[in-house]
This record gives sequence, C-alpha cells and structure tokens, in this order.
Amino acid sequence: MPRAVSKKVEIDILKLIPPPKTPPKRTAVRIGIHTSSAGGVELAAERAYRLGCSCLQIFSSSPRQWKPFELGRSQCETMSSIRAKYDLNPLVIHANYLINVAGGNPEFHQKSIEAFRAEVQRGIDLCADYLVLHPGSFKGATREDGLQRAAEAIEAAVDGLGIEKTNLKITIENTAGSEFSLGGSFEQVAELMARLRKHVPVAACIDTCHTHVAGYDITTKKGFEKTLQQLDDTVGLKNVGVFHCNDAKAPRGSKLDRHQHIGQGTIGLEPFKWLLNDPRLQHPAFIAETPIDEPLDDLKNIDALKSCVKKSKPAIHHRDAEAQRTKK
Ligand SMILES: [Zn+2]
Ligand SMILES: [Zn+2]
Repeated sequence: MPRAVSKKVEIDILKLIPPPKTPPKRTAVRIGIHTSSAGGVELAAERAYRLGCSCLQIFSSSPRQWKPFELGRSQCETMSSIRAKYDLNPLVIHANYLINVAGGNPEFHQKSIEAFRAEVQRGIDLCADYLVLHPGSFKGATREDGLQRAAEAIEAAVDGLGIEKTNLKITIENTAGSEFSLGGSFEQVAELMARLRKHVPVAACIDTCHTHVAGYDITTKKGFEKTLQQLDDTVGLKNVGVFHCNDAKAPRGSKLDRHQHIGQGTIGLEPFKWLLNDPRLQHPAFIAETPIDEPLDDLKNIDALKSCVKKSKPAIHHRDAEAQRTKK
C-alpha cells in the first residue's frame, strides 16, 4: 500500500530544502525514498538528491487513475541526465494501484493489462531499472487460477515491447497477506517469478512492513535470520532488487498494511540495522515508503536509514559523475 501523506503540510522538498553546497553523505548501500513527481517526473530526481538519496522510486503516472500522464521525450532525457549527474541508481517505478492482473472480471482484467503495458512502456522510456507490481487479488476464483491469470496478463502486457533489450525488470512485491491477495508469502512471489522468468526479465521487491504483518518474524535476531533464509530458499536473495524499508503501525501477523516512520513502529530500528549491513544484501536498493505527517519527514526517514549503515562511501562529486558518464 501507498504511504499516507498529510494534506495539511508543505511537503515539496524543492521548496523545503535548498540545493546542498556539498554533495550529501552516501552509504555503502543504496538508500532512497518514494519521491513525488509533482510538476513532472524529472523533478523527482532533483528532490531525491536534495534528500540525500542515492536511488529513488516514483510513480510514472497518477497511482489511482487510469488515465496516464503525458511523458515527453525531453522529460525522459532530463531525468536521465539528472540521474547521471548525481549517480541516482537504480530508478524504481511503482505501478498504479488500480491494476489487478490476477482478477477475474474480463473488462477490468483487460483494462489492467493495457494500463500495465503503458507502465512498461514508460519504464523503458525513462530508462528505469525496476517496475514494481503487486501480484493482485484473485477474489472469486482459486489461488491457482489467480496466479495463472497474473502470469498470462503480465506476459501479454510486455509482449513485443522489447523489454529484454533494456535494464527494466518486472518486479513482484510481496504483500501483507490479506485474504485473496497473491504474494503474501515468499513462496507465492517465487511461484509467480518462476512462471514469468521464461518470458520476461524478473526481480522481487520485499517490503519490510508487508513481511512483518504477513506474519514473518523479523524483530528478533533469530527470527530475522530464519526469515532471510526462507527468502533465500524461495525467491533467492540475489533476485531481490528492491527492499521497501517501512516500519509498521500494526502488529506482526495482523495483515494490516499501515506504514510507519523508521524505528517508530512495531518493527523498530534494530531489524533495519541487520538488513542494511547484511553482507549478502549489498546489491538491492533500499527504498522508504514512510508517511509524511510533518514537513521534512522524508529527510528524517532517509537519515534514520542512513544512520543504520556502518560502512560509508565517499560522497560523489558531480564532476566525477560527469566524467564517469562520458567514459561509458
Ligand atoms: Zn507496493
Ligand atoms: Zn511497498
């Protein structure tokens, strides 16, 4: 589920935080946050940089409307050049919440396929790395039917777009495990990935809040190790491209998907330290989808995640990033 954003506060980072005089501190692992695309997707990259991110997630369209945004070529080019300048990698896109590829209603299913196809096309145009999708709800059918429908819908949506020639991976997110929703266990995420792998490049996105409320123990060291082992045995740690780092408002096993600020919920800060410093997990992007209750909450959550990481990395100087880009 999305993060809650209070309507009462000024939240535009471009107005709240001036461009930094020196490049922000970076950590050994990539940390970012779901960033607003208000005023154009390319502005999200500048916002992410000002928050001190080294990667970012965006919506490439309104998350609760079928009608897509217009996305011009110059916006895609600006996005790519800002990302290169600040070394913002990877770029993650979260798909529209209305899309349900597992659903049984033919009309709605067709609409979902078309909307997801447009998501994939925008992902390719924006040179994105991961397109995160919830596997959907199979209400009114069996889980097996839902799974089969989801796999077929995704294949149909991607067909002929040339995704295999790009960096973009269809990225299946684990869910909070509510009734009829696919993806509440690592096995279900792995099952869908296995069906898709023959046809499309795939990855997984593991949300800490969803994992916790679905019932996995990540709050004791022993439980955390066991959960990571289960993840490795099913999805495979190397296939996890993105971790959504969210604390939870609801208790473990409640199936209630309510995100909380890092360290202030039922998960607490310690599991984020284990996650961010695990030697097996140096490759994924760690992205917060925490609420915005007060101005600068995004900055606080990014700083909270960064403070968990023991190893730092020299700050990137823009000229170096330029040089790296021209060398390629
Ligand atoms: Zn999600
Ligand atoms: Zn998530």
